[in-house]
Amino acid sequence: MSGDGTILVAGAGPAGLMLAAELTLAGAEVMVLDALPERSPYCRGFNLNARSLELLDRRGIAGRFLAEGPTVAFAMFADPARPLDLSVMDSDHPYVLGIAQTRVEELLEQWLAELGVRVRRGHTVVDLEQDGDGVEVTVEAGGKRQRMRVAYLAGCDGSRSVVRKRAGIAFPGTPATSFGVLADVELADPAALPFGMTKGEHGVAFVIPRPGYARIVLDDPEPPADRDEPVTLDYFQRLLDHQLGRRVELREPRWLTRFGNAARLADRYVAGRVVLAGDAAHIHPPTGAVGVNVALADAVNLGWKLAATVLGHAPGGLLDSYHEERHEAGERLLGTLRAQAALAAHDPAVAPVRELFAQLVEQVPGAGKYLAELAAGVSTRYDPKIPGGHPWLGRLAPDLELTLDGRRTSVAELLRPARPLLLRLGDRPLPAVPGGWVDTRDARCPAQPGLEGLLLRPDGHAAWVSTTADPQPADTLASALETWFGAPVPITP
Ligand SMILES: Cc1cc2nc3c(=O)[nH]c(=O)nc-3n(C[C@H](O)[C@H](O)[C@H](O)COP(=O)(O)OP(=O)(O)OC[C@H]3O[C@@H](n4cnc5c(N)ncnc54)[C@H](O)[C@@H]3O)c2cc1C
Repeated sequence: MSGDGTILVAGAGPAGLMLAAELTLAGAEVMVLDALPERSPYCRGFNLNARSLELLDRRGIAGRFLAEGPTVAFAMFADPARPLDLSVMDSDHPYVLGIAQTRVEELLEQWLAELGVRVRRGHTVVDLEQDGDGVEVTVEAGGKRQRMRVAYLAGCDGSRSVVRKRAGIAFPGTPATSFGVLADVELADPAALPFGMTKGEHGVAFVIPRPGYARIVLDDPEPPADRDEPVTLDYFQRLLDHQLGRRVELREPRWLTRFGNAARLADRYVAGRVVLAGDAAHIHPPTGAVGVNVALADAVNLGWKLAATVLGHAPGGLLDSYHEERHEAGERLLGTLRAQAALAAHDPAVAPVRELFAQLVEQVPGAGKYLAELAAGVSTRYDPKIPGGHPWLGRLAPDLELTLDGRRTSVAELLRPARPLLLRLGDRPLPAVPGGWVDTRDARCPAQPGLEGLLLRPDGHAAWVSTTADPQPADTLASALETWFGAPVPITP
């Protein structure tokens, strides 16, 4: 194996698949390896949130996912009996989509294949060594070890990431202090245990309906010393019966597993020529149901920056901005998830706090919206690194309807090629940006008549906004172009 300009993506979960597609769109040479000979049939997650759907929209593929399942405008935050109203979010998709993670991965892999990249399965990254010019990666396949040299290695290899460990990246955080077990099973009598939360004599059972089976989640107060010990149906059945204080017969086990509430964040998302995304970079309790979604957000932030770096047209510090932006987002997420876990604790002392919190959400205007947007990542804002007070600056720009050359289009449609985009929208002529790395479009936005110009990064975040009320001078545009795209772009007024 060889590939001097290649980016090797280790792991074909949501992070690796999305990253590989983003890199390919940006013109980089990509190779994707996954240790498993075939995709695991076990489905961990069941949802895509608003931010994921917005990002997929900006690549023209959200419809494929939306066709797969129901959308629900509510999500649990702390109290299952008082879910958050998602319809109040400022989002193109103010809801959560019910879709199996396995299906999300299949659809992403299909899209990646359409872009010309196939996943090589049964290939495990076992070691790496990096120098200033590249990374020597040792890969095990079919019982043999081979070495390959690549320009960059992206560790998308999950929570136990070999890439993270071999690159010497620390993974500080909190170890698991409580555990849960889940079982994908059939109920011998479906009426014996309703969907949702059931309080029993000694605990709580949470049941999620799935086509043809049920997912049951229980606390596991006394897990075995070896946390990797397989969970058997017998173990789960005894725990369920004990917690409910009655017998509810289970059968046809499909998947049984144990999980903990460990929460960790890699201290560097970029270490020389090794980058991390998804669970390799951060782990959190699965109860927040965000892992797939954060993995996609990491990948979309990283793809264009890593591609520009390898292709040699990135401005200084661009790749480091991936660490700055997504590490900060990861920290905020861990804080939110820890708060959710604390509020949801069964401890009777927490019940009044949970009640008060729920009252605040119900009574204080904007509080529910704030939490919904925070939990779904919709309020994520990156430092725009230029002056300007427009509320969109640094945020994912809304999917505005536009008129371009007499036809209707939209911001999301124009972002499909995953390229930097400068929209000139007003009557006042904006500086011309010749050639280079930026697609420039003269369009109209009937819904925002005061909007004069919008510079978008390939991930859809607004790098520069100018309105008639707050016209931004040409030098802030030049500075935004230089900061994010680095090309020598003379501005001609
Ligand atoms: C029980 C449970 C329920 C969950 N529910 C939800 C939910 O409802 N919603 C949600 O958003 N998230 C949920 N999550 C979290 C979600 O599953 C993960 O956050 C998500 O899979 C992370 O994606 P990833 O691509 O980073 O890693 P992974 O999906 O773990 O993918 C990593 C890939 O790397 C491969 N790999 C590993 N080591 C190597 C190696 N050395 N070389 C090559 N390949 C390698 C693996 O085979 C795998 O395919 C849940 C997790 C659990 C455990």
